[in-house]
Amino acid sequence: MSSTATSSPKTFRVKSFGCQMNVYDGERMAELLAAEGMSAAGDGDDADLVVLNTCHIREKATEKVYSDIGRLRREDGSAPMIAVAGCVAQAEGEEIMTRAPSVKVVVGPQSYHRLPEMVAEAASGKRATETDMPAEAKFAALPKRRKSAPTAFLTVQEGCDKFCTYCVVPYTRGAEISRPFSDLVEEAKLLVAGGAREITLLGQNVNAWTGEDDKGRSIGLDGLARALAADPDLKRIRYTTSHPNDMTDGLIAAHGELEKLMPFLHPVQAGSDRVLKAMNRSHTADSYLKVLDRIRAARPDIALSGDFIVGFPGETDAEFEETLRLVDAVRYAQAFSFKYSARPGTPAATMPDHVPAAVMDERLQRLQAALNRDQLAFNQGSVGKTCEVLVERKGKHPGQWLGKSPWLQSVHFAGEAEIGQMVTVKLVEAGPNSLAGQLV
Ligand code: SAM
Ligand code: SF4
Repeated sequence: MSSTATSSPKTFRVKSFGCQMNVYDGERMAELLAAEGMSAAGDGDDADLVVLNTCHIREKATEKVYSDIGRLRREDGSAPMIAVAGCVAQAEGEEIMTRAPSVKVVVGPQSYHRLPEMVAEAASGKRATETDMPAEAKFAALPKRRKSAPTAFLTVQEGCDKFCTYCVVPYTRGAEISRPFSDLVEEAKLLVAGGAREITLLGQNVNAWTGEDDKGRSIGLDGLARALAADPDLKRIRYTTSHPNDMTDGLIAAHGELEKLMPFLHPVQAGSDRVLKAMNRSHTADSYLKVLDRIRAARPDIALSGDFIVGFPGETDAEFEETLRLVDAVRYAQAFSFKYSARPGTPAATMPDHVPAAVMDERLQRLQAALNRDQLAFNQGSVGKTCEVLVERKGKHPGQWLGKSPWLQSVHFAGEAEIGQMVTVKLVEAGPNSLAGQLV
């Protein structure tokens, strides 16, 4: 494919959609482009190159890409150079090239280390596509980390072998791979040296991470967390997204032993065993609840989070009620809930008895009302507690600061503090999405 040559872009903007892994990838793409001498466009400034780092998980997320491409057209009819990256690029690369002539680069999530050379190719007049899946090559080719916000993401594991029947991840991100221990220790060190005080370890199934430590011993995510926790300047470690079936005894025990491993957890989808089986989740509601019991025994102050899908094909009213019962039993601190979205190429898309949109809407509303009720109750239950808050940024009001509690709640407070500092705060007031605190 060919088009006319344009000048090499000097400024860029990376816009990431979807999960935290995309946020991580977006940061790495920005670092790659900066290493080539390009500079990030300021807020509101026109950029010569716009990278849309896309999400394919639900239909709405995919459609957003095309509307964003249209919106990038300037008043005089010209457009910046557009690169589409991420999971939509992987799944629909050819279609994007056909549907959107203004897109000059299409690069999948495992190939973005090639972005600078592809941008150069596009500047010379060729449209460039790369959607191979050699994930290991990517990490080795990325520049070293430099500056970091107080909270940083670190992708430790990519891809997924679980093949839940509704999910595109195994097709867009490929098979599970774990990044080597030594690379992760080095990247974490650089992030901490650059200012990070909290690192969230990322993976589609982050607790499936395995590796060998520096003594050649085989370890899991708990071993990695223990090694990272040895750095005195790293104050907190989180991980997401975990799968109930990969919750090992070692990881559960680590929650009881490692002060720095923050109390928060994140799996599930539905409360009905028939639906879970049709989803190929390979756990039941009961086996999931038993995992939670073991985690709560190890870390009584654990805060629980979950992802839920309502309206999976064939889900009956009674089966949906089982999801509500599970929610009532667990009392989540925070959770995400979605309407089922049929994704082309996944087994669920061709299952019978798709649930009508109006029924999904009603179920989602009921589920979210229950989840919001529990989130507010969890926040209210925190009032009176004194906890450490990692200061992330200034608030809207003069003298106000914003940070996170160990339970991932947003906390605002006033007083002497600085970004990146751990401060001790008494929680004095709770709302649905944040808490007010006082420095002690
Ligand atoms: N690996 C994680 C797990 O097993 O829980 C989930 C990763 S997935 C990127 C994030 C969430 O998107 C899923 O937990 C699920 O709730 C939601 N999701 C995935 N596919 C979906 C679909 N086809 N329709 C609606 N929600 C979906
Ligand atoms: Fe998707 Fe299931 Fe893999 Fe999570 S475990 S990424 S939901 S296939």
